[in-house]
Amino acid sequence: MTQQQSITDLLTAPQRPLLSYEFFPPKDDEGMAMLENAASALKPTCPDFVTVTYGAGGSTRTQTLRVCRTLAELGMTPVMHHLTCVGASQTELREILDIIRREGIRNIMALRGDPPRGEKHFQKHPDGFSNAAELVRFIKQSYPDMCCGVAGYPETHQEAVSSNMDIHYLKAKVDAGGAFVTTQLFYDNQLFYDFVDRCRKAGIEAPIIPGLLPPLSLKQLQRMANMCQASLPQELLRQMEAAGEDASRTEEVGIEWTVNQIKDLLAHRVPGIHLYILNRSKAVLAPALIKCFRPES
Ligand SMILES: Cc1cc2nc3c(=O)[nH]c(=O)nc-3n(C[C@H](O)[C@H](O)[C@H](O)COP(=O)(O)OP(=O)(O)OC[C@H]3O[C@@H](n4cnc5c(N)ncnc54)[C@H](O)[C@@H]3O)c2cc1C
Repeated sequence: MTQQQSITDLLTAPQRPLLSYEFFPPKDDEGMAMLENAASALKPTCPDFVTVTYGAGGSTRTQTLRVCRTLAELGMTPVMHHLTCVGASQTELREILDIIRREGIRNIMALRGDPPRGEKHFQKHPDGFSNAAELVRFIKQSYPDMCCGVAGYPETHQEAVSSNMDIHYLKAKVDAGGAFVTTQLFYDNQLFYDFVDRCRKAGIEAPIIPGLLPPLSLKQLQRMANMCQASLPQELLRQMEAAGEDASRTEEVGIEWTVNQIKDLLAHRVPGIHLYILNRSKAVLAPALIKCFRPES
């Protein structure tokens, strides 16, 4: 199996800000066909890397590897396999990591994960890990050449006792070997800039990649903002509401908002942009959006 590139190398000498897309494992064959179509449509946009979520929203774990394989077969590499501590012993995590490694994957987004549906609090497996920092340490000890990304929260993680403590624990993840931070989605760039400032003041030097989700409908915007605890700027809401039932106008508003976010972030010299694409190509292929990264296209 060909060894894929490590994202650490991409971040060390970037020719330009990195562009990455996040996929999630679909629940059925129809979803898989949709994902493959989206990936094929997006391939010409040459993302620097792609990522595949793990266990989120009830998806099965083996599906993550299947999607990683599919994306690699389509030539979309390097792939970053997400991994969480949820319900897993160290032995199980090691088995999964061995398989990932054998696939030639050298990038892991190391996460604690959310409590399973119906449970309020995260319960560590008796022989597992309590938080992402422990998982990163475990991965780096056993697989030193594996690049680990970690998650950051511009609006503070919902369970954090304070934003300062959240940054403190983010630093622990980076100190354990996290090579870069990808953020939760946000719609107001100022929240990201303030977050980066707080991280730098706390001594976190790793690259911080903003995560964005182009909203394509008011319903989707509200659902995702609620799920990810992201605040909604009044102006974005006003514009979405003004578009009313006109689906193509709502899409235009959402894409324009994301394009403006990206332009401003690139002007602030972010190391990359991570797009939560929800297995769809439509928003990314909007000419105004892709031109932010690939002016020649
Ligand atoms: C970029 C990105 C990708 C994601 N991908 C997935 C995915 O693929 N699958 C999935 O299920 N979920 C995913 N998530 C969601 C993520 O799993 C949840 O947000 C989860 O609740 C926290 O994971 P974490 O890795 O940030 O946890 P941690 O960094 O472990 O933090 C969790 C909470 O515990 C606190 N904390 C950390 N360490 C300590 C400590 N030592 N003592 C006390 N408190 C502590 C933190 O402040 C925080 O409130 C993703 C999130 C992001 C931003």
